[in-house]
Amino acid sequence: MHATIETLKNDVFERNAGEPEFHQAVAEVLDSLAPVLERHPEYLDQDVIRRLCEPERQIIFRVPWTDSEGNVNINRGFRVEFNSALGPYKGGLRFHPTVNLGIVKFLGFEQTFKNSLTGLPIGGGKGGSDFDPHGRSDRDIMAFCQSFMTELYRHIGEHTDVPAGDIGVGTREIGYMFGQYKRITNRFEAGVLTGKGLTWGGSLVRPEATGYGTIFFAREMLATRGETFENKRVSVSGSGNVAIYAIEKAQELGALVVTASDSSGAVYDPDGIDLELLKQIKLTERGRIGEYAERRSSRVEYFSNRNDVWQVPVDVALPCATQNELDLRSAQALINNGLQVVAEGANMPLTADAASLMRETESVLFGPAKAVNAGGVATSALEMQQNASRDKWQFDYTETRLEEIMVNVHETCRATAQEYGAPGDYVLGANVAGFTKVVEAMIAQGLV
Ligand code: GLU
Repeated sequence: MHATIETLKNDVFERNAGEPEFHQAVAEVLDSLAPVLERHPEYLDQDVIRRLCEPERQIIFRVPWTDSEGNVNINRGFRVEFNSALGPYKGGLRFHPTVNLGIVKFLGFEQTFKNSLTGLPIGGGKGGSDFDPHGRSDRDIMAFCQSFMTELYRHIGEHTDVPAGDIGVGTREIGYMFGQYKRITNRFEAGVLTGKGLTWGGSLVRPEATGYGTIFFAREMLATRGETFENKRVSVSGSGNVAIYAIEKAQELGALVVTASDSSGAVYDPDGIDLELLKQIKLTERGRIGEYAERRSSRVEYFSNRNDVWQVPVDVALPCATQNELDLRSAQALINNGLQVVAEGANMPLTADAASLMRETESVLFGPAKAVNAGGVATSALEMQQNASRDKWQFDYTETRLEEIMVNVHETCRATAQEYGAPGDYVLGANVAGFTKVVEAMIAQGLV
């Protein structure tokens, strides 16, 4: 007898107890699959869904390192190699105190479908550590990264598993890890990591890619209703790479972006975010968002609760900080204030009930993370292409490639939703299209 979606979900929940974020991500995908299984009962034949929900490999390791004061610290490192049906495992590393196996699994699971949606040959993986980089000196960051790579190097490779950045991991950290990989292996294997610096194998547009891609996707969503970003009021949460470059591109398209945030608070700037000031504080000085309010002008409002960004009335909301940052109450406030589009720049930033409400609200278009923020990893795949061919592409050329990919991802989601009788349902479109390609490859590659 064939399993049902419900029994499959329960099976995954039981096998992965105590991992709420992983359950949330699995439920979100599996709940979209009923109509696919009706058309393709063969997807149940090889127990392919249960296989898909079990990572191919999960690595947990000790990361001992000595800080500048001489203290020995022990952190935990993770790499979850989720699915290699479409290509080498690909996905970022997150350094944040909240990182645990369940979080890494949720991110790796999402990454598998996201990477599938890009149309590029990359499988899904994710990793990271519970290391807290906040307030650490450059020397400490280097020591940690070197110890982390001293274990990780044996599991990765340009044809095996290609990590990149995520929260807490940028070009600096990738540099320290790349240096250590090179030292240990004696190989300048540029394609083993992405998000590298421009002079040693990195790609132009990679830092901007997730944010720019988010805006290209949201622009396409608006266009289905004959709308553009011109004069739209936009709220953004976060102030890392994703948020900053989403703000940059939205402003370029004529939007008024009025908010930004970090873990310590949020700002509402009715005149529009001063991007140079935000970049200076967050990217250069690695400071706190409160400083933006102090240095900008008296018209800026500061909220000590970062979730208050969602109380500001806007046409377009772009959560670009972290998972479960936009809850039901915030979703309700946004809708009551006339929201038209919500597009997830971060991974799973809406709680499950907030996402359901957005999906049910006819006046709102809801773009899910695995489609909206796919531009980051897609540009990582372009970096891998440049590395493999020992080439270096121009900015405009690379940005055009990114834009084409995002227009395609949008079109794939739109057309799939339409095909399944749910026009405008990007969640269904993204889940079904991402899933189909992965399971077909798994079935084609056989079962041991
Ligand atoms: N961390 C990013 C993501 O969530 C990018 C991963 C990559 O470039 O491999 O998709």
